[in-house]
Amino acid sequence: MASDDARDHCLFCKIARGEIPVPPIAQNDLALAFRDIHPQAPVHVLVIPRRHVASLDRTTDGAELGAVMLLAAQVARDEGISVSGYRTVMNTGNDGGQTVHHLHVHVLGGRAMGWPPG
Ligand code: AMP
Ligand code: ZN
Repeated sequence: MASDDARDHCLFCKIARGEIPVPPIAQNDLALAFRDIHPQAPVHVLVIPRRHVASLDRTTDGAELGAVMLLAAQVARDEGISVSGYRTVMNTGNDGGQTVHHLHVHVLGGRAMGWPPG
């Protein structure tokens, strides 16, 4: 019987596997960064684990999560927003506003961010 799991249909797994041609702007062994298709700020990058992890709530691997966060910080430096400042956002579940169920960190910068978020 053919196997079928979340990874087969997951949009960000397809990007990680190269099945959807989204150019990576940075990567390490465990994580990958690419530009958000609907940018909400002059810089809007998504950082994902290569492996399928549905959300922060399903995270068990601290090294993997660390690799995602360290790549987010590297992207911010590479994009020139680390001095002016930036926002990292991880939406989790329905109330968190998560629409793609593969863990991702938004890196937003190039403008001042409001607080609290809407
Ligand atoms: P969230 O709402 O936190 O789950 O964020 C999902 C993000 O994925 C949104 O900001 C979308 O604009 C972004 N997105 C959806 N499809 C793509 C894609 N093919 N390439 C890049 N970003 C995407
Ligand atoms: Zn996935």
